[in-house]
Amino acid sequence: MKIVSYKLNNVIGSYRAGAVEDQYVMDLQEAYKQYLLHNGEIDLVKSIDYQLPHEMDAFFRLGTLAIERAKQAVNFVQDNDIQMIKYDLNDVILGPPVPKGAKIICIGTNYKNHVMEMKSSMPTVPVLFSKFSNAIIGPGDTIQKSPITNALDYEGEFTVVIGKEASHVKQEDALDYIAGYTISNDVSARDLQKRTPQWLQGKSLDKTTPVGPWIVTKDELPDPSRVKIETYVNGEKRQSSNTSHLIFNIPTLLEFITSIMTLEPGDIILTGTPDGVGFAMDPPQFLQDGDVVRIEIEGIGVLENEVKNAEVPNR
Ligand code: MG
Repeated sequence: MKIVSYKLNNVIGSYRAGAVEDQYVMDLQEAYKQYLLHNGEIDLVKSIDYQLPHEMDAFFRLGTLAIERAKQAVNFVQDNDIQMIKYDLNDVILGPPVPKGAKIICIGTNYKNHVMEMKSSMPTVPVLFSKFSNAIIGPGDTIQKSPITNALDYEGEFTVVIGKEASHVKQEDALDYIAGYTISNDVSARDLQKRTPQWLQGKSLDKTTPVGPWIVTKDELPDPSRVKIETYVNGEKRQSSNTSHLIFNIPTLLEFITSIMTLEPGDIILTGTPDGVGFAMDPPQFLQDGDVVRIEIEGIGVLENEVKNAEVPNR
């Protein structure tokens, strides 16, 4: 299943949880309602907002139950050829497929060739940093280039979405705590990132981190340890690697992070970027207004966003 947050092109309002099949988006709450009605569960239909919330934060608060019910609903609609409204992907705007309140945990220097190109030291434990929700944008949004940076750079990253509360998880159980996977572009302002030891200021500029286009549930990507990841800028291939090259793999990261903090459903882990960033090119190539960054990850899909100069209020 591919979980999205979507809203209709011409409708003002918040994003709703949906599922993508082929070229169409199905509303998950509506589909679950049809499923309950079919089974005569009238009382549950009355409390549908609690049974399967349409808003992403509430959807994920339900944990694995939300994913289970969403799957039941999608299978029911498909198996029984239920006629319900489906929206063409061209008629909707996709938002970030993760809750606004999610923790955004990023892993730095997690591919050997990227460590070398950045002239960083090889990590002995995972390097953790974070960004805030102001940075997160959806697959259809533009990456905002703030005038305070002249060194905006892309970082294609395989991204893990947590499915249930996770604390002190063992490596061998890590997959149990994962809902699925998505793509992120950890866009980084290198000049701001590198002017202090803490990277936050270069990593959390407004509207700089695309996430999406959807969460592929883990059953559709049974082996996340060997998937291809590529990044293109204006059609030119810049990054080409494989998650098999991660220094700290996904189970190791889950064990490490949950030994420090509890992860909640909907929290995301950006697992790090491979080599090929613009900063390391000779001469460095940074993102400019009009550039298009396209990240392709095998088994997930494509995340493509244009860069636009940000309009800053004149105060
Ligand atoms: Mg990164």
